[in-house]
Amino acid sequence: MPGMNCETFGHFLGCWLDGKVDGSTRVALQAHSMLCPDCRQLHATRESLRRIVDASNADEGMPTFIANIIANTSSARRGT
Ligand SMILES: [Zn+2]
Repeated sequence: MPGMNCETFGHFLGCWLDGKVDGSTRVALQAHSMLCPDCRQLHATRESLRRIVDASNADEGMPTFIANIIANTSSARRGT
């Protein structure tokens, strides 16, 4: 995929974690995450949070503190 960058990575990250991207997109995402420490960290964070959220959803939905963490993570690259 041409034009893979941090913005595109962030755009597709949720779909990637959902397993909804096609093979070539997934390869491009993996390639970018290997080259870009920021996006690699973002992926690792989202993936681990996602496991917690999935486990929590089985019981009582997303706890507020996790929602806050995700919100902070999503906006961490903006500002300053
Ligand atoms: Zn990046």
